[in-house]
Amino acid sequence: MAFYKQNCMQCNSLIERDAEFCPVCGSHSPFGYKCPSCLRKIGKEEKICSGCGRALYIPCPHCGELTFVQEMCQHCKKSLMIVCQNPRCKKPQFFENRKCTGCGKKIRG
Ligand SMILES: [Zn+2]
Ligand SMILES: [Zn+2]
Ligand SMILES: [Zn+2]
Ligand SMILES: [Zn+2]
Repeated sequence: MAFYKQNCMQCNSLIERDAEFCPVCGSHSPFGYKCPSCLRKIGKEEKICSGCGRALYIPCPHCGELTFVQEMCQHCKKSLMIVCQNPRCKKPQFFENRKCTGCGKKIRG
């Protein structure tokens, strides 16, 4: 099976299509946005995730402006991600997640 490459949406580098993150810029949504809770593909025009029902626009914990649920705030550009505390997982998680999407363990707030 051949590996197909596709441009990263964030930095435009050609990367493997099945990559979970871009090795060049480190983006965790290189080919589109994913719901931080259920990992379903989402679009910026959606307000509620059709998979889990979570709001896709939330007030930024840093500046308070309403921002799309992605890796960083659209306004202050601060990160909205935290790292899973499970030392064997350490997957980046959206700061609001109560359960890790990688290992399923609870995240301490
Ligand atoms: Zn990239
Ligand atoms: Zn969802
Ligand atoms: Zn902000
Ligand atoms: Zn985890």
